Amino acid sequence: MFNLILFGPPGSGKGTQSEKIIERFGLKHLSTGDLLRSEIANATPLGMQAKEIMDKGQLVPDAVVVGMIRSAMERHADAKGFLFDGFPRTVAQAEALDALLAEKGASINLMIALIVSDEELIKRLLQRGLTSGRSDDSNETVIRARIEEYQNKTTAVAGHYRALNRYTSIPGEGSIEDIFERICEVMG
Ligand code: ADP
Repeated sequence: MFNLILFGPPGSGKGTQSEKIIERFGLKHLSTGDLLRSEIANATPLGMQAKEIMDKGQLVPDAVVVGMIRSAMERHADAKGFLFDGFPRTVAQAEALDALLAEKGASINLMIALIVSDEELIKRLLQRGLTSGRSDDSNETVIRARIEEYQNKTTAVAGHYRALNRYTSIPGEGSIEDIFERICEVMG
């Protein structure tokens, strides 16, 4: 298996690059943001609870997202590898993910972090809010809260994989194609 984490703050382009990566490398895309939005669209109890938290720009509890990832991995047990997007967002999630993969005799092979300035992130997210229909993208206070959650709880996840020698970073500004080429280079 080859398991990749695409890492970076909200608005850093993980979703856009994920589409290209899964096509090129044949990985199964697992996005906790997409999984949560599908729970919301189906008006499940989990979705209703998550929506309130997401609309404040806060992180959904670890147990909830880890549970969603566990069942998604079980649904795709034959995948040749996974691309994790928007997960793990806390060190506890990273430890849970490592344990889930270890059960399959696998691990995270690589984390690629997309580096983008805060100013550019806010600009992109407000722009996306005009068309995405995502309530968490249309309000600058919520966007700033998400970036703060990222700084307070998520940046430490990079340290976790750096200590395991799996971390690499690339500039996330420039054209979509240029960024994808940088990703392909580090994928080897
Ligand atoms: P973005 O990266 O643009 O913030 P996502 O779609 O990844 O968008 O996430 C949207 C929201 O979903 C987050 O702000 C958070 O509330 C929730 N969420 C997504 N993934 C996780 C996670 N791994 N842990 C906790 N909350 C999550």
